[in-house]
Amino acid sequence: MSDSPLDIAPDARFGPATLPYGVYSTASDPRTRVGVAYGDHVLDLAAAARAQGAPFADVVDGPNLDALLAAGKPVWDEVRAALTTWLTDPADAVRPHLVERAEVTLHLPFTVADYVDFYASEHHATNVGRIFRPDQEPLTPNWKHLPIGYHGRSGTIVASGTDIVRPTGQRKPPTESTPVFGPSVRLDIEAEVGFVVGTPTRMGERVGVDDFADHVFGVFLLNDWSSRDLQAWEYVPLGPFLGKSFATSISPWIVPLSALEAARVEQPAQDPEPLPYLRGSEPWGLDLRLEVRINGHLVSSPPFSQMYWTAAQQLAHMTVNGASLRTGDVYASGTVSGPEVAQRGCLLELTWSGKEPLRLPDGTERTFLEDGDEVTITATAPGPDGTRVDFGEVTGRILPAR
Ligand code: MN
Repeated sequence: MSDSPLDIAPDARFGPATLPYGVYSTASDPRTRVGVAYGDHVLDLAAAARAQGAPFADVVDGPNLDALLAAGKPVWDEVRAALTTWLTDPADAVRPHLVERAEVTLHLPFTVADYVDFYASEHHATNVGRIFRPDQEPLTPNWKHLPIGYHGRSGTIVASGTDIVRPTGQRKPPTESTPVFGPSVRLDIEAEVGFVVGTPTRMGERVGVDDFADHVFGVFLLNDWSSRDLQAWEYVPLGPFLGKSFATSISPWIVPLSALEAARVEQPAQDPEPLPYLRGSEPWGLDLRLEVRINGHLVSSPPFSQMYWTAAQQLAHMTVNGASLRTGDVYASGTVSGPEVAQRGCLLELTWSGKEPLRLPDGTERTFLEDGDEVTITATAPGPDGTRVDFGEVTGRILPAR
């Protein structure tokens, strides 16, 4: 081992298997620009590309990832191949373009276009059905035939680290006959995985399950902050609205889909077999292992590999009616919950609607979030040859209602 700043341990955070893209600024240079995380460093991608004479330099030389997203898969592959060469075969030419990761401020990495949130964990949907509709079948009749989703509010997608103001609104306590108004008292998280579309489509076109990798650029972590009391009162018959739209946080480092080849697994068996447009020829389950912490205490370890519907099926379903895709479209998996109690991705399930409080190691108890609570979601996935792909984190702290 030399003491080159480019030599990092194979299992370090953001090792050579990950090479995620983000947008950063520094105290001495407030321009936002595209960076690539590598160990404890961030590479100024445009500066490195110029120095190397890379043909894609213009595409990465902007204030965010928008142009790279729009450039399409051949360019995504070209950039990643170049990065792998530059960073793992230490080239003095890129060394001047590295900054310490601890010194950068990270920003929302791309312009968010539309936003869809799905509901793809059978364990989550079953638990929520039991809690919200105890005298009915927990899964609705459509659940195993199509990936259920709703259109969310893209304008309130924020970067990790943004404070979240407790929402205010209408709720109807079960003991009252009319609603009351005030701060939400059942504020929750949803640990999810997000996907960003690069290559758009025209209205009237569909994307097949097998064309997923041509359209989706990358993967990140997403916290779908949820007000359960607002949600319970408003959601019938049209679905989530103000209980969700106040804020959604995303992790700042976008892991390219091509970094997840070694993480691809078969999804759980689907019975009944879905309609032909939801069948693909290759597995798109992804073995991401999430961890959820409240104020630093681990409260859940949701396994993404257990999701009933894959992101490839979700994209096919989202476009089967001819709805177009735009560069920057975000869609989220839905709360990731596994079969075990300690694998549930939201407090609604973890505390069974507040009936079974969580005891944190600091001696306090939680049913739902309190003002000042900080929630952090992290994840890793297997990379090639025993390496690890790291998603970094998405974090946010609750501020009192205004
Ligand atoms: Mn959600």
